[in-house]
Amino acid sequence: MAYDFLIAGAGLFGAVFAHAAAGRGRSCLVIDRRPHIGGNLYTEAVAGVNVHRYGAHIFHTDKKEIWDYMRQFAEFNHFINAPLANFRGEIYNLPFNMNTFNKMWGVKTPAEAREMIAQQRTAPENRAPRNLEEQALSLVGRDIYEKLIKGYTEKQWGADCRSLPAFIIRRLPLRFTYDNNYFNGRYQGIPLGGYTPLIAKMLAGSDVLLNTDYKAYAAAHPGAAARTVYTGAIDEFFDRRYGPLAYRSLRFETEILSTDDYQGNAVVNYTDRETPYTRIIEHKHFEFGRGEQTVVTREYPLPWRPGAEPYYPVNDETNALLLAKYKKLAAGRPDVIFGGRLGDYAYYDMDQIVEKALALARAALGGEGGPARRRD
Ligand code: UDP
Repeated sequence: MAYDFLIAGAGLFGAVFAHAAAGRGRSCLVIDRRPHIGGNLYTEAVAGVNVHRYGAHIFHTDKKEIWDYMRQFAEFNHFINAPLANFRGEIYNLPFNMNTFNKMWGVKTPAEAREMIAQQRTAPENRAPRNLEEQALSLVGRDIYEKLIKGYTEKQWGADCRSLPAFIIRRLPLRFTYDNNYFNGRYQGIPLGGYTPLIAKMLAGSDVLLNTDYKAYAAAHPGAAARTVYTGAIDEFFDRRYGPLAYRSLRFETEILSTDDYQGNAVVNYTDRETPYTRIIEHKHFEFGRGEQTVVTREYPLPWRPGAEPYYPVNDETNALLLAKYKKLAAGRPDVIFGGRLGDYAYYDMDQIVEKALALARAALGGEGGPARRRD
């Protein structure tokens, strides 16, 4: 075998695994279909601004060990994500907090806001909310659901809120303080210089082949490695034997504008149903940029078809059943480690990816205290 590990996918999961393996004396070949490393974290400089090519990535975690781990590879800035919602020209703060409630209803205290929500909310009797609409109505009531949740969610997922799983909305904090921080974790920031150099550092001890499709490569090089780490779509690995899992795709439209500030914030969500994009990102604000130009990206949700980029797993009941079948096949392949958003078909945040990759690497490499092996 030429390598200890063939790692399919140079995104965050593959890079963290490769760094751990190389650090323990294992040889890794990391391959990726795309012409660049970094997966969806990939950033590149455009008009002096680091552009998040595949949508906004803000690193956040509540775990000090994960934060410390990431900071080995880059210095992080003090960016805090405080997105705005634009509903037909009305601007609201996100996540739902006292600033949102004040703008929506004129309430000033947490008690007044709770009272307002209590008047508006409706919850199913004696059972948990069964879908996203029920969940939203029982959490924040009708006004917020209709202005800030319904249109955005239905655009993003291409489905009625009554047919979407409730857990999606549980990602969003609900607060009775004047705090616009979108995330609850203690640590948050963006690596100085963007994500691409950070991933490059993780991959420094491994060989990397770009523009290389896993299936074609594995077929042509059956002796490439003793074990495989696969971060592509799990159903694709098994040639969609039981049919395709569902995904949502995205299209990004990026423009350089000759103005120093287009929208005054990194992320503005368009929460009405009619605007065809879900959000506009103004990349310079991720880094407190000052240049005379700016770069903005509009994010359009798209249905996914085989061949398109899968971005979000659609974790509903039908797909959960199908996933269970693919997981059974995966369990019969101890030579392959599956991981990442696509390999696990799970809606992970970056810190969860890091944690999982480190845990799987530890298991595969024989634990932290085990002997390091060097290849001759
Ligand atoms: N969401 C919403 N309105 C917003 C932003 C988010 O209703 O303005 C809901 C929506 O259901 C969405 C979920 O929260 O699917 C998660 O959104 P987020 O922007 O966190 O997802 P990301 O694409 O960043 O992972």
